[in-house]
Amino acid sequence: MRVRIWGTRGSIPTPSAPDIPTRRYGGDTSCVSVAAGDALVILDAGTGVRHLGNELMRAGPRSATVLFSHFHWDHIQGFPFFVPAYHQDFSFDIYAPPSKDGGSQANVAQAALEQQHASPFFPVPFCALKARLRFLRLPTDGPLRIPAGASRLVIHHAPLSHPGGCHGYRIEEQSDDAPTRVFVYLTDNEHPAEGTSPAVQNLAKGADLVLMDSQFTEDEYEGRSGYGPRIGWGHSTWKACLRETKEAGAKRLLLSHHDPGHDDSFITLMERAARSEGAKHGIRVEAAVQFREYEIG
Ligand SMILES: [Zn+2]
Ligand SMILES: [Zn+2]
Repeated sequence: MRVRIWGTRGSIPTPSAPDIPTRRYGGDTSCVSVAAGDALVILDAGTGVRHLGNELMRAGPRSATVLFSHFHWDHIQGFPFFVPAYHQDFSFDIYAPPSKDGGSQANVAQAALEQQHASPFFPVPFCALKARLRFLRLPTDGPLRIPAGASRLVIHHAPLSHPGGCHGYRIEEQSDDAPTRVFVYLTDNEHPAEGTSPAVQNLAKGADLVLMDSQFTEDEYEGRSGYGPRIGWGHSTWKACLRETKEAGAKRLLLSHHDPGHDDSFITLMERAARSEGAKHGIRVEAAVQFREYEIG
């Protein structure tokens, strides 16, 4: 299983600038790909999906599965610039998390993507997308299963703690002749102030690699700097992420959804502190780096 990070930034794209250098960790917003056998899963379509799209165009026509965590801008804004969506020889099965009001999940995804193509937000209408786009319901009575050649992907999902809702995904690559490999995608989630969250524990249990939202420092979260308290904004600190990872028995933690106000040297300092704390518990901790690939298994 190969996990590649196409966008690491939270909230708003953050191109490198003299006052906020971001070249090292990247400035594009959330997008991650998971490749296993002949299957490709795309998690979120923040501005990082533009780079993935360019790579897919170079490789040639294919099908893929798209899973959205939720529809805040930083998770959908790259979709109008995802070139394969404009080509009829690509096909995408697009899944949305269940909506809180009980509406059709599939319709939520379609409506969100169509709206950002509509006037006055974007000049090119949604009907210009010629790829085969299927908007589908995530199963609620068991995991989503995707064949992947000699192996298969089994995908579990659960709601997280975020204003307006957000979903986390546990992607297992199962095969008959190798141990199961597990990647978990937990962005835009606010962990409880103390203890752990049952949903996170279920998803992250024993995982090989867990990506978590660690947007804020404790000072920011509690309001000792910047905007004032950010409690209830739906994001977390690395200390809370590490507490969940340790309890879940996961092996490796990737800190992501970097705050737009955090430059490279700031993130490096956060990573250093988190890494040395993680090492005490046998957990490898890294800050997510745009374009980096992580091989599992
Ligand atoms: Zn976000
Ligand atoms: Zn969000």
